Amino acid sequence: MPEAGALPALFDGDVLVPGSPGYDEARAVWNGTVDRRPRYVVRCAGPADVRTAVRVSRDLGLPLGIRCGGHSAVGHAVPDDGLMIDLSRMRGVTVDPGARTAHVQGGALLGSLDAATQPYGLATTAGIVSHTGIGGLALGGGVGWLARAVGLTCDNALGYEVVTADGDLVRATAQENPDLFWALRGGGGNFGVVTRFDLALHDVGTRALSAEVDLDPATGLDALRTWLSLAHDAPTRTTLHAAVRGGGALTLGLVHVGPPDDVTTLVAALDGLGTPTARRVETLTYLDLQRRSDTPTAHGFRRYGKSHYLPDLPDVALDAFLAHAEADLGAASLVAYGGAIADVDPAATAFPHRTARFEYGMGARWDDPADDDHHVATCRRLAATLDPWSSGAYVNALPDEGDAGVHRAYGAATYTRLRQVKAVWDPANVFRLNQNIPPA
Ligand SMILES: Cc1cc2nc3c(=O)[nH]c(=O)nc-3n(C[C@H](O)[C@H](O)[C@H](O)COP(=O)(O)OP(=O)(O)OC[C@H]3O[C@@H](n4cnc5c(N)ncnc54)[C@H](O)[C@@H]3O)c2cc1C
Repeated sequence: MPEAGALPALFDGDVLVPGSPGYDEARAVWNGTVDRRPRYVVRCAGPADVRTAVRVSRDLGLPLGIRCGGHSAVGHAVPDDGLMIDLSRMRGVTVDPGARTAHVQGGALLGSLDAATQPYGLATTAGIVSHTGIGGLALGGGVGWLARAVGLTCDNALGYEVVTADGDLVRATAQENPDLFWALRGGGGNFGVVTRFDLALHDVGTRALSAEVDLDPATGLDALRTWLSLAHDAPTRTTLHAAVRGGGALTLGLVHVGPPDDVTTLVAALDGLGTPTARRVETLTYLDLQRRSDTPTAHGFRRYGKSHYLPDLPDVALDAFLAHAEADLGAASLVAYGGAIADVDPAATAFPHRTARFEYGMGARWDDPADDDHHVATCRRLAATLDPWSSGAYVNALPDEGDAGVHRAYGAATYTRLRQVKAVWDPANVFRLNQNIPPA
């Protein structure tokens, strides 16, 4: 067992302890309610450091956290009195435009991926905020504006380089360790530390269009119904979305990736919904689209959110959604699924929610810790009004729901299979600071 004081000599990267310069920045994550103090933060320089860090955490009996973008809403990356693997020095992205592939280091943020692929007019599905980490996002599934056209991020994974619970470095592809390959496509950080993702890229061009109309939620039901049918029939490069802001407007909108002319009819149909109080139609680059929500979603605020998958939205469910306007803060959203997401067999990856038509999210952001209970309770209460139509939830959007939440994220069949794979690759549950799959 290594002496704790000898740790820095074991790594090419840096070891931070309480009081080290940069320690407080390293332990601060997106959700400002998370305030945990790791014993060590190991800023790994490469896969060899990650292997050593996993072994050291086991030898010292320390809980192990893995930090990529720090966006986990519950702060799973940061272990109290444990060892945090900080992947922020491993953010390289290499693109092979001929093969249409990207090699993405395990600590990369989405902005680096898009910035590396877009000079070739290429991209793959990534989330809609550029400071999200590819690590957590891709391992839970990965939803974004391209998902209906080319599938989830995990559907575009060609292979993974992974440090296992034993500290070994292995490959997982359809041919090599196929059970691990299956589990890494949706099963989260339960199976190892991914040091490299190999992703398929697609020719999507560099242009995008965003269209939105604002309406009075009190008169929104008819408009929302029509919006729903537009969402069902939209081309796969187009994603319909809706939002109800606490105390404010209903916004119905779409995002299209590709030439704006492709969606002229759909934009006109959106304009015809109800009596809009405001209208915004904007053509922009794909890169700007991917960055436009960065500021409202900045790190450091106190946050809480809940989510559901919804296979169907009858009028009573739409009414429940519109009633979210009564909240004093926060917003609820619906985002359309379908298209290439639904083309994948639910058993083919560890992301089973292929028949969901919409993802619902309710989230709030505030500053004062004294308001924590109020906002958490409001989010829970409003999200519960959609419970009757919920088929589960996205693992990457789960708050603190414990085992019940993990079941909601996977359903019985996927959960059982994940437990079996976990028993092979991590029988001691070394990787347990996550939406945890207990070994079978
Ligand atoms: C502002 C915001 C916007 C979002 N937008 C989207 C979106 O558009 N689409 C979407 O699908 N999701 C989205 N999400 C959810 C997001 O996918 C999850 O929060 C995800 O966990 C973030 O990953 P991260 O690497 O940034 O987080 P981290 O907190 O760094 O990591 C979360 C967990 O992922 C695991 N992990 C991370 N990296 C690795 C790795 N290299 N190897 C092994 N395990 C790893 C670990 O278990 C870790 O605890 C968003 C979240 C936020 C806060």
